[in-house]
Amino acid sequence: MYIDNINIKINSCGKEIIAKQDKIMISGPCAIESYEQLLETAKFVKSQGANVLRGGAFKPRTSPNSFKGLKEEGLEILKAVKKETGLAVITELMDVRDLEKVYEVSDIIQIGSRNMQNFTLLTEVGKQDKPIMLKRGFVATVKEWIGASEYIIAEGNSKILMCERGIRTFSDYTRNTLDLAVVPIIKKETNLPVIVDPSHGTGVRELIKPMSLAGLAAGADGLMIEVHPQPEIALSDGEQSLHFNEYEDLMRDIKIFM
Ligand code: PEP
Ligand code: MN
Repeated sequence: MYIDNINIKINSCGKEIIAKQDKIMISGPCAIESYEQLLETAKFVKSQGANVLRGGAFKPRTSPNSFKGLKEEGLEILKAVKKETGLAVITELMDVRDLEKVYEVSDIIQIGSRNMQNFTLLTEVGKQDKPIMLKRGFVATVKEWIGASEYIIAEGNSKILMCERGIRTFSDYTRNTLDLAVVPIIKKETNLPVIVDPSHGTGVRELIKPMSLAGLAAGADGLMIEVHPQPEIALSDGEQSLHFNEYEDLMRDIKIFM
């Protein structure tokens, strides 16, 4: 199975990923805030070995009063930065009405946690020929998550990356509880590649590195990491976004798994 436009190959077991490095490193800001912010971040994460740039244009937020993304303008910025850096890009599709616009720019289409069981959306992305990253619903069991992936596969698209991003439990020390046991479980049950997102999984900057290492040790095929040039003034998820020097440190320490 090939992920188009990305120098990555995944074999039929979803195991081997061939790029300049063996893992899919998805990195970038939670939300696209400006051309300068995205370009600066993209250049930096690329210099450290990331192969996919993330950036939200349509943001699902708990409160309607929070920053909900630059939407179409964000997609334009993503397109420009993709052209400028040559990085593959991923962004979230929240609404089926935006499919064409997101498809045009994004190399991988992200389905967010809140939409994991939006069956209309799953059916539509299943008809597309681009890889889909399916984030686990924050209250979804493994069976429900796999069922959601089957909606996409049923329409003919089996290019799916399964992303563990933490679930809601009684534990309130972290934003979510990162459920790393699912990494080997999903790989065994589905043969699909698994990405671990310790940023949303913990919500705590200091926990990103240890949970990245743990995810890779558990067999993850890649990571999704939020990075921002100035997390203190980020318009979303600043508290879980790495500063550039912390990202550099992370990339150095995970080399053992690359
Ligand atoms: C994201 O990755 O931008 C995001 C909103 O994550 P999740 O859907 O996992 O909350
Ligand atoms: Mn985020």
